Amino acid sequence: MASVHGQSSKRLIITIDGPSGAGKTSASKLLAQKLGYRYIDTGALYRAVAVAAHAEGIAADDEKGLDALCRRISIDLQSSQAGLRVILNGRDITAEIRAPHISMLASAVSAKPVVRTFLLSLQRSLANQKGVVAEGRDMGTVVFPHAEAKFFLDADPHLRAQRRYEELKVQGKDAPNLESIEKDMIQRDRNDSTRSVAPLEPAADAVRIDSTTLSLEQVVECMLNHVARI
Ligand code: C5P
Repeated sequence: MASVHGQSSKRLIITIDGPSGAGKTSASKLLAQKLGYRYIDTGALYRAVAVAAHAEGIAADDEKGLDALCRRISIDLQSSQAGLRVILNGRDITAEIRAPHISMLASAVSAKPVVRTFLLSLQRSLANQKGVVAEGRDMGTVVFPHAEAKFFLDADPHLRAQRRYEELKVQGKDAPNLESIEKDMIQRDRNDSTRSVAPLEPAADAVRIDSTTLSLEQVVECMLNHVARI
């Protein structure tokens, strides 16, 4: 097999699933950069639906309202020098989607089948050209069940909360305290793992990585080693 820097020249679909704060975003971005692949942040799409629902006062349990909403909104992910931009109806909402109330609302609306069905085709169309690293909760199980490489990234919950706290601080955001971040995170993980559609769970053929004692570089090295063997 032809290879560049030890990597296969085949263009693959690579999925990275796992709970919040496990390091999926950093690992996905670095992996995509090293392979020259497109990075797709599917959590950002659920967050965009949450921003739209919030703006229109549509509650997470209003399935009809969410259905109608999904039919009239347009969401796009655009690569820019500053990173991935999230566009809702032509408006840049990249900063807004990270607010804590949007995280909780995204988790609530993501349990609704109408929202998941709407985003399923969008996610697949974003990956219409191979050479993709897709990050989320159901990438390997539902959206890209035939992906060539699947990873499930996890870490100790306390450490995951701490990482999220540090991230918010670095971004200069008014970070809620560590305790409330951990509480929200555990609640979101519980919602995501127990919902009836596309729950958060490792695909049977996923490589599981616990990043508790690993650096970002070690996680990505482990992924690259696996991808190189495909
Ligand atoms: O990954 P991120 O924390 O940005 O995702 C926000 C929320 O979107 C998650 O808590 C989860 O409820 C939902 N989500 C999902 N399926 C995905 C990606 C995200 O249900 N593939």
